[in-house]
Amino acid sequence: MTDKIWLSSPHMGGAELKYIHEAFEQNWVAPLGPNVNNFEDDLKDYLQEDIEVAALSAGTAALHLALLILGVSAGDEVICQTFTFAASANPITYVGAKPVFIDSENQTWNMCPDALEQAIIDRNKLGKKPKAIIVVHLYGMPAQMDRIAEIAHRYSIPLIEDAAEALGSTFKGQKCGTFGDMSVLSFNGNKIITTSGGGALICKNMAQKHKAIFLSTQARDNAPHYQHSEVGYNYRMSNISAGIGRGQMEVLDQRVEERRANHHFYLNLFKDIPGTKVFTEPDAAYFSNHWLSAVTIDESLAGFNADELYLALKEENIESRPLWKPMHLQPVFQDAPYYGGKVAEELFNTSLCLPSGSNLSNADRERIKAVISAVNIRVN
Ligand SMILES: *Cc1c(COP(=O)(O)O)cnc(C)c1O
Repeated sequence: MTDKIWLSSPHMGGAELKYIHEAFEQNWVAPLGPNVNNFEDDLKDYLQEDIEVAALSAGTAALHLALLILGVSAGDEVICQTFTFAASANPITYVGAKPVFIDSENQTWNMCPDALEQAIIDRNKLGKKPKAIIVVHLYGMPAQMDRIAEIAHRYSIPLIEDAAEALGSTFKGQKCGTFGDMSVLSFNGNKIITTSGGGALICKNMAQKHKAIFLSTQARDNAPHYQHSEVGYNYRMSNISAGIGRGQMEVLDQRVEERRANHHFYLNLFKDIPGTKVFTEPDAAYFSNHWLSAVTIDESLAGFNADELYLALKEENIESRPLWKPMHLQPVFQDAPYYGGKVAEELFNTSLCLPSGSNLSNADRERIKAVISAVNIRVN
């Protein structure tokens, strides 16, 4: 059997072990230490805006803390993009709040501003003013942030930006991860850079960062004994993980280029296959890191569908994956209110995420090309 080609696997830069060795030599084998502080500084420098960074154990933890710091509590409603990974929505339930899901628009596959505004107006009428909005940049593609931020501002609802998939993406020149009142990054193993598992909360000021660190380290009051006036969490990033993160930050720009090169490979590969469309930026305002490349297939024109392509790739030991199944279609969220049409559902039914690792070799790409060409030739 040939080697497996993964959808998106970790890709070390080389300096990671040096930082891990330092941690061992200094015995900072703990959820704090120099790597954690330096990794936060690296992220802050990279994002360039007037922000503060708290490194955490996961992107999911960062979303949970964002909701807590913004004061979302039991019984509240939180608006969330339906087309996303469950980790965007689950933390809403951790705080006892209820999600209200919003469909996507066709251009960026992210939250539809019109459906968002309709939802806010309707929830307000019902006397349930939403306490926060969670917007996502799916597969690295920036959402329509100018319109969404304007609506959030106009209705005075805090905006949480789930940029877990979008480190390195920009909208109108501004980096994703800096648009929200609070923003979230993930360094899970499959993301554009990894710390083996980890995340970050991007805060607008030092007070928020202090609050994030306080909550993520068991909410210890300032006393010699263990004194607690609030419920805390064990969400801080380990100094070992942060060492990996420091090494990965050195190659982040390279990783973005490599993912974008994969995207160009797929644009070329599919351009002559009727009924297929590779997910791409609507215009020059958008710069995607193309964390995952994806293709939408119109079976009536292509003669094959996303399931068949998935199986053909699997047959050759190549991993691909259906898009995120929209949250309003998930059994666990079946009672949640939903605003919009069938944009996300339609995309889910007709599209496929393709191998997108920054470590794909030319030989890997040739194998992928051979399968896709064969599927096309077989039917056309
Ligand atoms: C990966 C991901 C998360 C969660 O991040 P973890 O670090 O895995 O907890 C949240 N939202 C989206 C959109 C993601 O892709």
